[in-house]
Amino acid sequence: MISLTPDPHDFLDLDRELSCEERGIRDAVRDFAADRLSPQVADWYETGSLPARELAKDFGVMGLLGMHLEGYGCAGTSAVAYGIACRELEAVDSGLRSFVSVQGSLAMYAIHRWGSEQQRQQWLPAMAAGEAIGCFGLTEPDAGSDPGSMRTHAVRDGSDWVLSGTKMWITNGTVADVAVVWAQTDHGIRGFVVPAGTPGFTAHEVKHKLSLRASLTAELVLDGVRLPADAVFPEVRGLRGPLSCLNEARYGILCGVVGAARSSYQAALEYTLTREQFGKPLAGFQLTQRKLADLLIEVNRAGLVALQIGRLKDAGRLHHHHVSFGKMANVRAALDVARTARAMLGANGISLEYPVMRHMANLETVLTYEGTEEMHALSLGQALTGLPAFR
Ligand code: FAD
Repeated sequence: MISLTPDPHDFLDLDRELSCEERGIRDAVRDFAADRLSPQVADWYETGSLPARELAKDFGVMGLLGMHLEGYGCAGTSAVAYGIACRELEAVDSGLRSFVSVQGSLAMYAIHRWGSEQQRQQWLPAMAAGEAIGCFGLTEPDAGSDPGSMRTHAVRDGSDWVLSGTKMWITNGTVADVAVVWAQTDHGIRGFVVPAGTPGFTAHEVKHKLSLRASLTAELVLDGVRLPADAVFPEVRGLRGPLSCLNEARYGILCGVVGAARSSYQAALEYTLTREQFGKPLAGFQLTQRKLADLLIEVNRAGLVALQIGRLKDAGRLHHHHVSFGKMANVRAALDVARTARAMLGANGISLEYPVMRHMANLETVLTYEGTEEMHALSLGQALTGLPAFR
């Protein structure tokens, strides 16, 4: 007889909605995460470090880098499969998913979508294998939510381009072999492929972060960086270029945060079932059960949103407003889950021995990067009313 009792770890039976290939990828990434990432992540977080080179190679062997892209050594999986991989990585730590997102959805996607054939051949196979690390420089000290106000600029000098400016908060900037840098030109914003060794290019670590500590963050300084004519993306001009990449990465985020939420919920469930106060497990009190029910609903609702948005993406029916919906809804849900779970673990909730406060602190970054909650609310407002209210 089939039991109809819901599984607390997959309450809506969403696993059954996955294809064989998607389930296989879920298992492979989950096992890899349990063996290679989970045992060390608290140390990386505490020390604010990451063995990025080794990890890049491991991610490459797993086929996780640019995994939803076609050709050039990329795995070419479905969007749903890529989302599942992001979820399993972020169940360990948002910083690890960020590494894979920045490499695959920002740097590699930019080159794949907008690069010349020569740029693709030069960088993508090495990046897919994790032999070359990429970063994506859009944000500046004075241009965050409003990237159109960026000051970094590129001017022609003969056939060369000369880039000057500063990029801020750039994930993987200190270990990158190549940076995709967006700059103002006489013909609008354009994207440049900048090898890290180019004279005038330097990367400085951003220290003192209280969030996303298992991730390397940099300031990039471009001081008269001279590049050959073919370093520019040949066709794309304006914000359409970087925004198309952000849309890809935001999809990974809205799936990834389901993992951070799930991990926090599972920690709270396990903890309250075993921890006793007033003579019985905490999970036996009505107030605790109410919290567990709330967490369960948030985790599963976010999972459904991610799955549906992934199916829309695979069907070629995804609009960037869908992505705003998912990013806003799922990051908010994950943050609520992590905050509630943190309190449910009492004093242990603030310890790195448990994952919840690490997730909670990470999710503050995830709420801010790739479009803050306010930016996605404005995107949804525009979708509903036709009235842009960004400025
Ligand atoms: P601001 O734009 O200054 O916003 C501050 C606050 O004002 C926010 O709450 C915002 O929502 C609000 N606000 C702004 N405009 C409006 C408005 N019109 N109406 C109402 N409220 C508004 N960037 C990259 O290019 N590459 C990376 O790899 C990268 N990695 C990152 C890693 C980390 C750890 C962090 C923290 C950031 C990273 N970023 C990266 C930068 C990130 O994308 C920006 O921080 C983000 O876009 C917000 O910009 P800002 O911090 O300048 O905030």
